[in-house]
Formats: sequence, structure tokens, C-alpha cells
Amino acid sequence: MALTGIQIFKLLPKTNCKECGVPTCLAFAMNLASGKAELDACPYVSDESREILAEASAPPIRPLTVGYGDTALKMGGETVLFRHEKTFFSPPGLAAMITDDTEPAVIEEKCRRYMAYQYERVGLNLRPELIALKATNGDGARFAAAAKIIKEKSDLSMVLLSEDPAVMKAALDVAGDTNPLIYSATESNLADMGNLALEAGVPLAIRAENIEGLLPMIEKLTEMGIKDIVLDSGARTVKQSFEDSIAIRRSALIDQNRAMGFPTITFPCEMTDNLAMQTTIAAGLIAKYAGMVVLSDFEGSSVFPLLLQRLNIFTDPQRPMVQAQGIYEINGPDENSPVLVTSNFSLTYFIVAGEIEASRVPTWLAIMDTEGLSVLTAWAAGKFVGDAVGMFIKKSGLSDKIKHTNLVIPGYAASILGDLEEELPGWSVTIGPREAAHIPKFLKEYKVAA
Ligand code: SF4
Repeated sequence: MALTGIQIFKLLPKTNCKECGVPTCLAFAMNLASGKAELDACPYVSDESREILAEASAPPIRPLTVGYGDTALKMGGETVLFRHEKTFFSPPGLAAMITDDTEPAVIEEKCRRYMAYQYERVGLNLRPELIALKATNGDGARFAAAAKIIKEKSDLSMVLLSEDPAVMKAALDVAGDTNPLIYSATESNLADMGNLALEAGVPLAIRAENIEGLLPMIEKLTEMGIKDIVLDSGARTVKQSFEDSIAIRRSALIDQNRAMGFPTITFPCEMTDNLAMQTTIAAGLIAKYAGMVVLSDFEGSSVFPLLLQRLNIFTDPQRPMVQAQGIYEINGPDENSPVLVTSNFSLTYFIVAGEIEASRVPTWLAIMDTEGLSVLTAWAAGKFVGDAVGMFIKKSGLSDKIKHTNLVIPGYAASILGDLEEELPGWSVTIGPREAAHIPKFLKEYKVAA
């Protein structure tokens, strides 16, 4: 349970040494209680107090990692019900199901195909992370062989699905070092699967008949010393799955029920055979707290929208995505190349840069710090106005790169023209397109004056 500022204060050294960056231990305690400070900022907390404070300040949903390398998936760690309250931290993993009776060549082909689903967006590489490998007939050797192919032919992380501990052990022997999520412990195999998870040091998913069935299993696994647990309430209808997902999150956050404070795995692939419908269900579950969604397959038409939706929901709403201020070279510009200026809202930068790139016209792109606001918003907020843009251009070092004095401003900022010309005497300022999509045509026709 979270501690109050006064309770935290009692556990601090009370020397007011200021090394944590605030004047008193009490101020630090208050910041800690409101989530504005990290415990590590105080080097003098005793080990005993640190343990108590770490436990009390641990996120209500346990953070854990599934998988390895570039596709390692961080799950849990969430602290709020609604994104606007703070932010969501762990984007849900996207997994595609493969059964172990699939021909090895087909498994390899799927690995290649799934790895190819990678998309650049606002400077990030978006991709699905996981393959869910399901054992079909109790043949450990075949399950292990399929896991080996996935491990060797892809960098995707894995969920291993079998309720037979012997079959699971066979796969763990070849792929345990990739930190797979093992699925699933049930009432009947709980101790055996728990021991497997402990021995291999991997996270364990549990599946109950219904949400009420999860608690006794969590308690037993916790007694065994297992901490990294992923929950499946057993729901296989859209309605029940949503209800359970929300109930688990609310239980952990609102009721402060630590016993339910674990991330979840959901199976749209077991709710319908239709991939488009699975994608729609997955989108809803991503919005409502799923830690992982498992589809029957990946296709671009399912993966891309889910990746974008996930990006949007898990971007910190209080911190705009920004591009660093500076002068960017696109298509190898020289001293006679045109100069475009715009704001440092990440999306603006990547869309404008993409259109310039597509035009193949060598261009300088001047990105001005507008605190992550788009052009129109920055203008309305007084951050992308004539004198500010002019000052930026003067100090940007642009004059070392070009031999002309021509500048193109965004069409949406046309009203800054007069002030900008006053701030930049001798410069020729041109109003560019309003929409980025019109930049290629504009650049092909635009002439830099000598
Ligand atoms: Fe108190 Fe620790 Fe901050 Fe020093 S560093 S003022 S002891 S909380």
C-alpha cells in the first residue's frame, strides 16, 4: 500500500543535507509520495528503510520482461487507469500463433515474414515482438524442434503454450535462454509448472476457469517464490475478456489488491477465426489493459494499425514527442539549396522530412524548438512567431552552410511573414505549402534567388 509523505519522512535520515536536490528530508518525502522523486536520489536511506519504501512505492502492476534482445517485451508497471492521469508505460506485446505441427519450412517462412513487419514512425521502429508456439499432441521433441527453429531463424521472443510440464521442459531445454513466457499453469499442473518456471528463471502465465479462479493460484505461486506471473482469466468471449481485463486493472489500482497486480495475456485468436475481427478485438483489448494479445497470424493489414494504435495510446500525453532543434540535411544539400523552417513537433518533422526526401530535391530543413508544438499551435502560443523564428535562423549556424538568404516558412504560419522580414532584413521569405503533401511539387518549382 502506498505510504503518505509523513510515513515516508519517518523512514528518511532527517539530516536535511540537500543532496537529493531539495532543502529538507520532508520536502523529499512529499515529492516521493507524489511520484515526483526517485528514492535513489537520497544516498543515505538505510537498507531497512529502502526495502520498506521500495515495496511501498512499487507499481501496483508488477513489471516483468518476456523475451530477449530487440524484441524483449516489458509488461506491467502501470500506475493509472486512464492515460490522461499520467501515462501508460508498457505497450502490449503482439504475438502470432504457430502450432508445432506446422512444417518446418513454413515456420521458417513465417519467421521471415513476421520479422519483415517493421515500420519507421516518428523515429521509432515499430514491430510485433512475439510468436506464440503451441504444442498440439504432447510430443516434446516436436515442440522443442519448432521452438529451436523460431529461436535460430528469428529474433522474435516466444510464448510457449503447453499444459504438459514434460513437453514444456523439452522446449525450455532448447529455448529457455530466450526468456520465453511459459503458458500455462492451471489448477492441475500448478506446482509442476511453477517449478519449471523457477528452474528456468522464466515468467509464468496462469489460466483459470474464471477471474475468481486466479487468486488461489497466484497465492500458491507466490508462496513458491514465483514473482513474474502473467494472468489469463480464461475468458474467450469479447465481452467477458473486456470485463475481466478491466476488473483486474481496477482491482490492482483502485482496491490496491497486490494479489491481482500482474499483467495479462489475451487471446483474440480463440474468439474468432477471422483475422480482421481478431484485429478489431485486439485493438479494444490494447486500449483496455491487455499486456499481450495473441492473433492467429500476422498480416500487414492487422499488424500496422495495431502498432500505430499502440504507439498512440502509450505515448506520454504530458510530454510531446520532439525533434532536436537544428539544421537537418535532406537529399545532400549544398550552399545553394533551399531552406525550409518548421516546428520541432516530432510528427511534423517526420512528415515534412519524408515529403522533402520524396521530392529528391536537396534541401536544408531548419527545425526550431517550439516545445513539441505543431506549427499552428506554436504560432497560437506565441512560440512560432516572426521575431522568434528570425532569432533562431540567425543563431542556427545556417549562414555557415548556405550562400543565399532565402527562407521558406510553413503556409500555416503565413501571418508571421511581416515580423520575420523585419527580424531578418535582406532575406527573402516565401510562404510554403500548408500541407506537407504539397511540398514535393512546391520544391520542384521553387527557385532560390541568387
Ligand atoms: Fe534528507 Fe536524503 Fe535528501 Fe539528504 S539526500 S536531504 S538525507 S532525503
